[in-house]
Amino acid sequence: MNAEQFYPLFLQSRNVVIDSRKIEENDIFFAFSGDSFNAATLAEEAILKGTLAVIVEQQNYENKEKNIFYVPSTLDFLQELAVYHRNNLQIPVIGLTGSNGKTTTKEIIHAVLSEKFNVQYTKGNLNNHIGVPLTILSIRPEHEMAVIEMGANHQKEIELLCSISKPDFGYITNFGKAHLEGFGGYEGVIKGKSELYDYLKNNGKTILVNENDPVQVEKTADYSHKITFGKPASDYQFELFSEEHFVGLVYKNEKVISKLTGNYNFTNLCAAVSLGLYFDVDFDKIIHAIENYIPTNMRSQIAAKGEKTLVLDTYNANPSSMSASLQNFITFEGSKTIIIGDMLELGDESENEHSGILNLALSLGFDHIITVGKNFKAVNDTTLSFENTQELAEYLKQNKITSKNILLKGSRGIALEKAIDFI
Ligand code: ATP
Ligand code: MG
Repeated sequence: MNAEQFYPLFLQSRNVVIDSRKIEENDIFFAFSGDSFNAATLAEEAILKGTLAVIVEQQNYENKEKNIFYVPSTLDFLQELAVYHRNNLQIPVIGLTGSNGKTTTKEIIHAVLSEKFNVQYTKGNLNNHIGVPLTILSIRPEHEMAVIEMGANHQKEIELLCSISKPDFGYITNFGKAHLEGFGGYEGVIKGKSELYDYLKNNGKTILVNENDPVQVEKTADYSHKITFGKPASDYQFELFSEEHFVGLVYKNEKVISKLTGNYNFTNLCAAVSLGLYFDVDFDKIIHAIENYIPTNMRSQIAAKGEKTLVLDTYNANPSSMSASLQNFITFEGSKTIIIGDMLELGDESENEHSGILNLALSLGFDHIITVGKNFKAVNDTTLSFENTQELAEYLKQNKITSKNILLKGSRGIALEKAIDFI
């Protein structure tokens, strides 16, 4: 069976799912499991829940009468189906990648464009070789536009994701020090992320460029299909504006303030507003979208706990986002404690980068610095340090942090949010 043959059934479906717990009536279920016993049980369960079709990798389990179909690889078939569907879509697709800020930027772009269009977008962080095809397959006739987040930790990944999502517009949030291990250093990051530019250039599509970022400028210098922001001569100009801890922007003397903290979010806002203006969303609607977007996803989120202000940035961390976060947090008024967790996946540069961040934290002069994780511990003989979040939590049960402001930031694997209740 190929994607073309299966497509009519897909068009009748409600959704495509890979998690059997999320199946609803009329869904198509991809049984992602190499284990045939498991796949068989899952397929049976799916049929009982009223799925329209089930895709399995076990030939002996095929049952066309029950709409259980065999394919050699569920992953390959999912991607093929997504490509087939994408080729049938006539709506603009916006593709995003970058080292930091993809999800945040995607969410704000979605909020802004939704003021005028019915926009489908990547849910959560489903930005990989499975998430991207699933997002493409979730685009249905009612949608007028789509925003797709694409993540990568090695070369050729963005190229693959572009071949599935085929973006008409693309934006790279930044080139930072993330996933250095898989990419082969910072130059590798630039090369890997730029696969989005390669796709857009080869297909005559449009690149959104932050002209304040020299790498973006250099990488797109030879190309003319661009929407630009950042410099006086750019298509759109914005000024940074902040109030309390929140960041906003000024556009043609009109101000808008978001519920995001961190000056790096200024760039993310600029990207979203540029696209909004490009697609003719009224500026007062853009203001409405930005003022009403409330981050709840542990990214640049501010929470009050009693008298204290917590900055929760525990979703992920790497040297560039960590340094941006620390520089932002030092501007908070009142006493400040930082709880920083290891930055994972840095390969050979790990030790260097962890001491670099620790030195930065020390030089900025926070009242208290607590590190969590083996990597920080190995380079930290100056401040309080714990091996893991569990140890931190035990400590916090006995010792209260007295600072008015507390920042928590670390990689996903460190899960610093598990300590929040003990603060
Ligand atoms: P992931 O690789 O996990 O998908 P992401 O690229 O989607 O990450 P976000 O989840 O949006 O990134 O943001 C993660 C953190 O990165 C934020 O909480 C913030 O600390 C930092 N960050 C966000 N935007 C930027 C930016 N433009 N430049 C540098 N750091 C940023
Ligand atoms: Mg993300």
